[in-house]
Amino acid sequence: MKILALNCGSSSLKYQLTDWDKKEVVASGIVERIGIGDSFIEHEAPLKNYKGKTKYAIDNHETAIQWVISALTAGEGAVISSMDEIAAVGHRVVHGGEKFTQSVLITDDVVNHISAVSHLAPLHNPANLTGIKAAKAAMPEVPHVAIFDTAFHQTMPEKAYMYALPYEWYQNNAVRRYGFHGTSHLYVSKRAAALLGKDANECNIITLHIGNGVSCCAIKNGVSVDTSMGLTPLPGAIMGTRCGDIDPAIPLFMMKQLDVGPKFMDNLLNKKSGILGITGKYTDRRDVEVAAEEGDKRCELAIDIEAYKLKQYIGMYAATLGKVDAIVFTAGVGENSGLIRQKAIEDLDCLGIVVDKDKNLNTRSKAGETEISTPDSKIKVFMIPTNEEIVFVEDVVAIIQGKYDDHTKYPYSFKK
Ligand code: ADP
Repeated sequence: MKILALNCGSSSLKYQLTDWDKKEVVASGIVERIGIGDSFIEHEAPLKNYKGKTKYAIDNHETAIQWVISALTAGEGAVISSMDEIAAVGHRVVHGGEKFTQSVLITDDVVNHISAVSHLAPLHNPANLTGIKAAKAAMPEVPHVAIFDTAFHQTMPEKAYMYALPYEWYQNNAVRRYGFHGTSHLYVSKRAAALLGKDANECNIITLHIGNGVSCCAIKNGVSVDTSMGLTPLPGAIMGTRCGDIDPAIPLFMMKQLDVGPKFMDNLLNKKSGILGITGKYTDRRDVEVAAEEGDKRCELAIDIEAYKLKQYIGMYAATLGKVDAIVFTAGVGENSGLIRQKAIEDLDCLGIVVDKDKNLNTRSKAGETEISTPDSKIKVFMIPTNEEIVFVEDVVAIIQGKYDDHTKYPYSFKK
């Protein structure tokens, strides 16, 4: 039985085809820079020892899915003769609102609900929906399952998810912290527990998912007890284009100053702030790091602010957890930017964190799971490549086999 996992981001589409019976990844890849120029597809078929990168003009997610289908079924990297070999598809969906606390088979009702809460995740839910519709059109006969980023954080206590706002806003409008990147935090925390040689439910872990979107999570005895994103993916650490934590009065102040409405402000905070806001030109941290190296002061500042906010979250969550076994860096920036990691964890002697500076600066995603702290560090620090697709696959299989019970009970363990 082969399961296809799709993860449609705002400008990227990650995919992974897994042979469930053999517990093997047969193909994986990414379509990058969708709709922003210089797009390409990287396709890997590990069992055939194939790895290829091809540049195409890819303007939207429909075209991206067609290229994924073509990469899986034709050419040197083909791994199946037709899409009929795929038993089910798992889709990442960012926001499930209050309705979805676990993964679910996608019906028309589910699509409508995801669409109804799209305003809560304007950069992602529409892209996820586009992916679902395009994949359903390409593979109408197979079950499609939605896996929500919000589900893992349903274990947060009330004191962590409630805002100090009129209580009726929670009762009538569902205003509360939801949190995102749940599958990633879950996966890397379980891998960290494995690296520590303990059961996940014995470990307290701080996970830092740093990609275009950034979120931090405090995990106590294996479950999420707090996270930096909220009702929407806007708050928390600073991100590629989102502002993260700011004085909540600023949007109102600037709406008056600029004489603009909520739509303008929503777009500005979600799409024109964060790293892009500070640098004025970049969202990709690789560009920011190169420009900072060449002396661009605003790029230097963006790196400093990003790392400073991450360091503050580490401190805050150390206080939340009381005892910390490990800190994990993951996602595009967390896996690849030694510089951001270094700046976020240096001078944290108060927590007993000692980093192997050279090892950290030279560790990239390709190295696989790597301990970047020294053996005498009281808190272990790991770089762990995230693999949300494994969480997707196990949930999809459980659902189509009718064995799905509770999202958090599944081991997500078939990775060796
Ligand atoms: P998302 O899934 O939120 O789109 P990813 O987790 O794929 O994000 O991360 C994408 C980001 O990773 C890019 O914007 C880029 O800034 C960053 N990134 C990738 N490689 C590197 C690198 N070598 N150094 C610094 N940043 C990197």
